[in-house]
Amino acid sequence: MRAVTYVKNNTVEILDKPVPEIQPDEVLLKVSGAGLCHSDIAIIGMGDENPLIGGTLGHEVSGTVERLGSDVSGWQVGDRALVALILSCGQCRECLAGRDNQCEVVYPRSALAPLSPGIGSPGGMADYLAVKARHLDPIGDLDPVAAAPLADAALTPMHAINTVRDRMTGDATVVTIGLGGLGHMALQILAATTGARIIALDTDPEKLAFAREHGADLAIPSDGAAAARILEETGGVGADVVLDFVGVQPTVDLAVAVVRGGGAIRFVGLGGGSFPYVAGSGTPLPWGVNIERAYGGTRSDMREAVALARAGKIGVEVVRYALDDAVQAFDDLHHGRVQGRAVLVP
Ligand SMILES: [Zn+2]
Ligand SMILES: [Zn+2]
Repeated sequence: MRAVTYVKNNTVEILDKPVPEIQPDEVLLKVSGAGLCHSDIAIIGMGDENPLIGGTLGHEVSGTVERLGSDVSGWQVGDRALVALILSCGQCRECLAGRDNQCEVVYPRSALAPLSPGIGSPGGMADYLAVKARHLDPIGDLDPVAAAPLADAALTPMHAINTVRDRMTGDATVVTIGLGGLGHMALQILAATTGARIIALDTDPEKLAFAREHGADLAIPSDGAAAARILEETGGVGADVVLDFVGVQPTVDLAVAVVRGGGAIRFVGLGGGSFPYVAGSGTPLPWGVNIERAYGGTRSDMREAVALARAGKIGVEVVRYALDDAVQAFDDLHHGRVQGRAVLVP
């Protein structure tokens, strides 16, 4: 089968690999779609010593059940399914506490991230994927290609939003920065599930137009004037919640500048920005601000995202690429030419 493989630093190739054998608790999934994420670009740029070299990429995976392991029940050949982002153990303290996105069995401190398809385990940018049946959720009659990015592009903002849901009251203001793959889903989740006023930011006018059509109360350019505008819009006090799906220096600065005292910031984007934290005077942070370095989401968050999609309340803007055009898709994403989410279709 074809498999989009990370072969060396900043290089992917489509290699021929054997169709995987399945274990008794696994199903063989015929891949319908595999989303392409900025994390994939980051992963393949981590040098020539990266232990993930040689692996098949793809952590946003949907497909149809092709074959069932002998111990699998509850699934039929032909069923459509979404693969969980995090292949959690289900047994450790974190999993039992409902924090399976932090599963400790697959999360040694030294590791890049919890085990995921395409990140330490074979990914879905291939014709087939073997996966434990317990890592699958049904997607009903959702278009399986458009559903694939729900596994991360909807899950991760769903989780970030759920961690600050108590602050998103009807009189709250939420600032969401970046309207790419994750950000355009965050906007829709905010609009569908909160009553808060939504201020959306991006540098791309087309993405701002999308935001105005999909629930943003205000969509403004992410530029040097944005902080003053947000403070003006919030009576000088700032936003209750800031979601940063970019994480470059200007957006980190913006998040810190516009969060209100007692507010919350969720840093999701991995753009390398930073801010000084000083335990005393000299920090730019107002008192009482809660910050989380959000990672992925739980199975509960995933089911919630799938339910919203099945109800027609959120939807992924999909740019389809044939699996054979994977290299082009990586190049387009890297150069900001993808509006929404690129999905490889085998
Ligand atoms: Zn991702
Ligand atoms: Zn666990």
